[in-house]
Amino acid sequence: MSSEDKLYFDKIFVQKISEPLLKQKNVALSVLRLDEVHPVISGNKWFKLKYYLQEAKQKGFNTIGTFGGAWSNHIVATAYACKLNGLKCIGIIRGEKPLHYSATLLNAAKYKMQLHFVSRSEYKNPSEIQKQFQNIYWINEGGYGIKGAEGASEILATIPGNLYSHIVCAVGSGTMMAGLVKAATSQTVIGISVLKGNTALNEKVCSLLTEKEQIKTFSINSDFHFGGYAKYNQQLLAFMRTVWYEHKLPTDIVYTSKTFFAVRELIANDTIKSGSNVLMIHSGGLQGNLSLPANTLPF
Ligand SMILES: *Cc1c(COP(=O)(O)O)cnc(C)c1O
Repeated sequence: MSSEDKLYFDKIFVQKISEPLLKQKNVALSVLRLDEVHPVISGNKWFKLKYYLQEAKQKGFNTIGTFGGAWSNHIVATAYACKLNGLKCIGIIRGEKPLHYSATLLNAAKYKMQLHFVSRSEYKNPSEIQKQFQNIYWINEGGYGIKGAEGASEILATIPGNLYSHIVCAVGSGTMMAGLVKAATSQTVIGISVLKGNTALNEKVCSLLTEKEQIKTFSINSDFHFGGYAKYNQQLLAFMRTVWYEHKLPTDIVYTSKTFFAVRELIANDTIKSGSNVLMIHSGGLQGNLSLPANTLPF
């Protein structure tokens, strides 16, 4: 078996971060390294997909369908998860078929996902697209939904003894954050939105929670999107290099670099107070860095 043919859940670990800022502010910061699960398919997507695939199999479906862009972590993760589960899968990809596939699409195709390209305007109407296919178990873009959140609620179970006061994670569809809120006992959950001005996110998270879960302590911060989804600047790239050299922590350009940047800012400006013990979720996504020009990053 090649190293790509297996998932390494036993490799998940908690990395303690040590730096002057944390000492000065008397805050402990650790990173849950879900990116270690697999070289291509890493992070939270396994957790989010688990109960959808289980239900699909229980209901007798043999094909999964889902949605995403050309660099979607969810698309490549679904392709791989279906392969492992002996399921066929179809990926509805946003935008016209490109001359050259992205690394993400090449991998998805390698894992036998059938790719269907639809125009950006068609993509906005998933139910119309779904009508063109029969006998498919559909999963929302990004795995958004209750089953996704239930799977994500198991993320915290990978660490023994949760002594943290704060859990910080990136927010795209809000599914992972909803799962973390479900699992939180006394912790404050802070979500860092990677979308610009998406005021519906709080609503999206809340609609995956029960009434009891909705009164837990959680909030979404929208100050660290760096211009919007998948947007970045030289400051963010420089930050990613520094984080790599100082902590041997690889981050991705879309989610985890912005989240790590945000955690440090929230500690520096005392939003996260002295005495706190913070766990940031490294939700993976490193394959997305292949969208950058070669040699942009040292990892
Ligand atoms: C998909 C993804 C997220 C966002 O998760 P949501 O449940 O959609 O909010 C965060 N980080 C990485 C690396 C991802 O791939």
